[in-house]
Amino acid sequence: MPTTLESEEHKALRAAVSALGTRHGRTYDRETLWSEAAKLGYLGVNLPEAYGGGGGGIAELSIVLEELGAAGCPLLMMVVSPAICGTVIARFGTDAQKQDWLPALADGTRTMAFGITEPDAGSNSHRITTTARRDPDTGDWILTGRKVFISGVDIADATLIVGRTADARTGNLKPCLFIVPPDAEGFTRRRIDMELDAAEKQFELTLDDVRLPADALVGDEDAGLLQLFAGLNPERIMTAAFAIGMGRYALARAVEYARDRTVWKAPIGAHQAIAHPLAQAHIDLELARLMMQKAACLYDAGDDVGAGEAANMAKYAAGEACVKAVDQAVHTLGGNGLTREFGLASLITAARVSRIAPVSREMILNYVSHQTLGLPKSY
Ligand SMILES: Cc1cc2nc3c(=O)[nH]c(=O)nc-3n(C[C@H](O)[C@H](O)[C@H](O)COP(=O)(O)OP(=O)(O)OC[C@H]3O[C@@H](n4cnc5c(N)ncnc54)[C@H](O)[C@@H]3O)c2cc1C
Repeated sequence: MPTTLESEEHKALRAAVSALGTRHGRTYDRETLWSEAAKLGYLGVNLPEAYGGGGGGIAELSIVLEELGAAGCPLLMMVVSPAICGTVIARFGTDAQKQDWLPALADGTRTMAFGITEPDAGSNSHRITTTARRDPDTGDWILTGRKVFISGVDIADATLIVGRTADARTGNLKPCLFIVPPDAEGFTRRRIDMELDAAEKQFELTLDDVRLPADALVGDEDAGLLQLFAGLNPERIMTAAFAIGMGRYALARAVEYARDRTVWKAPIGAHQAIAHPLAQAHIDLELARLMMQKAACLYDAGDDVGAGEAANMAKYAAGEACVKAVDQAVHTLGGNGLTREFGLASLITAARVSRIAPVSREMILNYVSHQTLGLPKSY
């Protein structure tokens, strides 16, 4: 049994990333931080050493994102590029795909976005209709469909698109993953005007008979669902890390403020009405981190099923803890909570993202009701 929850290596990684994040702070330039974090090996900590990565897992990658977030400079594309795309390619990609992508994802020189959400399917990803059919003459894939809310397509060197192909035996559609380059003919994007103060933007994508070579398909056509879930668990764990980091950042600003701000005899932090909700926020964030660590530990140990439940619970707990921490932080600062100078108000919308994406609070409650508790489904 380990005597501490985190190894000395993990603690050292936390401290080093925190130092990098603190140097950049809330006014960070995304590109500069991305390339510095990449040079230090942080963006590829989870990728195999044989392809230039750190040889660690999602436990290490989530430490990096949490600490950058806690310093006010989260790198959202870490949730997508090394965590989803890197994992799926490392586990299921062909040798050529691994050679082509993993070293570049690990050293941050290339980034990959991830597109599953569709306007008419939303949370019900079984309903996605982006379809891939094969050109019988050339073996090319031809993709048609629409995606929405896809992050960072403008800064990505490709997008991993979840589509469907017809099963040769049953005719049923099964999920498949395709690497789509930004300049593919028929692939267009439109920026969605979000009320979010973030460096990474969201896009609606249209795939209009996009022709891709046979090797654009990642891994095996028949193992699509397995491959997809291999990427979705890391996405949930990393979203938890994103939320915990943001919650810690907001809470720290509130605590600093509450220690100094005095409008009666003692600083406002001496009033339990201010102190207790901050203490509760801290406890909730710590509990969420514990579940995130459990999920990462199970995932890295190869327990995809066990990790599925824990990753959902961690994402739920972290999203709720983040929303509450940010709300209480804004309140603690009074009027200053809403000024641009203190920079907390914009986190109110940012925190909500972790409650909605990549899977909403209600869909996680549905999952736990059905999968864990065995209750019947209403839909
Ligand atoms: C900032 C941001 C970045 C994103 N980045 C990406 C990305 O990079 N790639 C990508 O693929 N997607 C991305 N998304 C999309 C995100 O994953 C979806 O928004 C999310 O899955 C919810 O889908 P929806 O918005 O269609 O909501 P809907 O599915 O329409 O749900 C709306 C509401 O109904 C509730 N609801 C739906 N079904 C049920 C039910 N059965 N029971 C109870 N309640 C239910 C939901 O919980 C939610 O509150 C991003 C979204 C945001 C906001």
